[in-house]
Amino acid sequence: MTAAVIALGSNLGDRSRILADAVRAIAELGGVELTAISSFHETAALKPHGVDESAPAYLNAALTAEVALTPEQLLDRLMDIEQHFGRVRAERWGDRTLDLDIIVFGDERRDVDRLQLPHPRAHERDFVLRPWLEIDPTAELPGRGPVARLLAALEAQP
Ligand code: ADP
Ligand code: MG
Repeated sequence: MTAAVIALGSNLGDRSRILADAVRAIAELGGVELTAISSFHETAALKPHGVDESAPAYLNAALTAEVALTPEQLLDRLMDIEQHFGRVRAERWGDRTLDLDIIVFGDERRDVDRLQLPHPRAHERDFVLRPWLEIDPTAELPGRGPVARLLAALEAQP
């Protein structure tokens, strides 16, 4: 079993219902045992050019799990769940009913478009770090350091 961290986000539809259903769908996957689930955090939408207050806000969460799958198998299953919730993949970073990202998968490293591990933008996303820190105060992002320090650095930015 490998310890993994998954980030969840939704900014369309019945967001809290979608996140709760997605957590349940992940918990029901064979080879996945949830170990902790954060509360749901409201966050302004982030677009490639910055925060977009005019876009519907996100509800974000994080969960930790023990996984008996390969990272690629886990990604495939998470993408099936995204599809199930009707995500339309129109624009990059576009509004979506459900986004599921693998943040870390043990100490696995990947650097292909389909799967990058650890997630290459996690360290600069407060909406990933804050829920993660809530469920694991000693969390570390491999190659980047303690999540508490990364989040404090983000929060200190003007
Ligand atoms: P973002 O999550 O950055 O908003 P998208 O969800 O639109 O972007 O990107 C989806 C693509 O990202 C998927 O096709 C998937 O193969 C790829 N991807 C690369 N690394 C990861 C990862 N660690 N977790 C989830 N998807 C990833
Ligand atoms: Mg994604």
